[in-house]
Amino acid sequence: MPNGTPPPDGPPPAARVFPRFDEALFAAVRAAGPRRLVLQVPAGLVRNAGDLAAQLREATGVPVALAARACFGACDFPSPDEAPRADLAVVLGHAPIPNVALPRTTFFVEMRERGGDPAGLAAVVDRAGVPRRLGLVASVQHLDLVGPLSDAIARTGRSVRVGQGDRRLAYAAQALGCNYTGAESIAADVDAFLFVGTGQFHPIGLAFAVDRPVWSLDPLRGTLEPPIDRAALVRKRQLTVAAARDALRWGILVSTFAGQNRSPTALALQQRAAARGREAEILLFDRLDPRDLEGRAFDAYVNTACPRIALDDGALYARPILTPPEFLMALGELPLEPYRFDTYH
Ligand code: SF4
Repeated sequence: MPNGTPPPDGPPPAARVFPRFDEALFAAVRAAGPRRLVLQVPAGLVRNAGDLAAQLREATGVPVALAARACFGACDFPSPDEAPRADLAVVLGHAPIPNVALPRTTFFVEMRERGGDPAGLAAVVDRAGVPRRLGLVASVQHLDLVGPLSDAIARTGRSVRVGQGDRRLAYAAQALGCNYTGAESIAADVDAFLFVGTGQFHPIGLAFAVDRPVWSLDPLRGTLEPPIDRAALVRKRQLTVAAARDALRWGILVSTFAGQNRSPTALALQQRAAARGREAEILLFDRLDPRDLEGRAFDAYVNTACPRIALDDGALYARPILTPPEFLMALGELPLEPYRFDTYH
C-alpha cells in the first residue's frame, strides 16, 4: 500500500485531534485499543521523545515505538513501511492536513498553548505603531490566542481580519510553511500582517506569500519583531532564477511522503521543460539529503516537495534549486514580478 493510500476495504483511516498530550489523549488511545502504536514527535521535542513514549506506554498499556526520522509537518507522518506493525499513530505538534489521506488511524496532538496575555500583547502591538488594518496569522500552537488577541487589538483602534484558507488548512488563521491561503484571502483588505508564534520559519514564508509587511509577535516572550525585508528575500530568489536560466539539464524533485507528493505537477513541469528545449528527469526521494544530488549531471533542479527545501535550504546544494513558479520564470513562462510563492494546495 503506497503512502497515504487508504486500505481497499472499509472506511478510510480517520484523524482525531487533541489539544494537548494529556489524559484525554490517553483515554482515547485506551478506548481505541490498538495492538501497537507509533509515536512521532517534531524536531523541537526530540529531546523529550523517550519520556513522552514512556508516559504514553504507562498511561495506556499499549506498546509504543518511536519514529526516529525527523518530522517537520503533518505532511510526513510515519509511512506504512516505516511502522508496518502499528495500527495507530500519535503525531505531536501538528494539525491534520484535511486533504491528505492517512494510512492508519492517526491522533494529532496539536500541543496548544494555554491562555497568554492578550491585553499585554495588544499593548506591545500598539506601542510599536503597527498599521491600523491588520491580518492575523498563527501557528497551530497559538490558535487559541487568536480570538482574545483580536478583540484586545481591536480595542486599540485597529481592525483585525482572519482569513479562511483552502482545504490544506484545518483552521481559520492557520498557516503552514507551504500554504498561506488564509492570509492571501484577506491580503487586499489589510495593511500588514501580524504573525503570532515563535521562530522565523512561518513569518518568512508569509512574507514570500503576501506583498504586505509581516510583523512577528512571540506570545511566550511578549516580543515583537519589525517587518521582514520582503524585497531582499525576493531579490535573492530572483538571482537564483537568473543563475538557472540557461540550465539545459534539469532534475525534478518529487517526494514520496503522502503530504508532499506532487507527481502531477512534476509531470506537467517535465512537459514544459521539453516544450522549451530542455531535458528534465524526475528524481524520487522521501527525505532529501544534499548528498543525494552530488555527482549528478544536472545543471539545476526544480523542487515539487516541501517548498522550504528551495527557499530555506537551497544554499546546502551545489546547484540552484527552484520552486515550480520560479522554474516557469527561468523558462520565461512567468514574469519575475510579481513574485509568486509556491503554494501547496
Ligand atoms: S510541505 Fe513543508 S511546509 Fe508544508 S506542511 Fe510539510 S513540512 Fe510543513
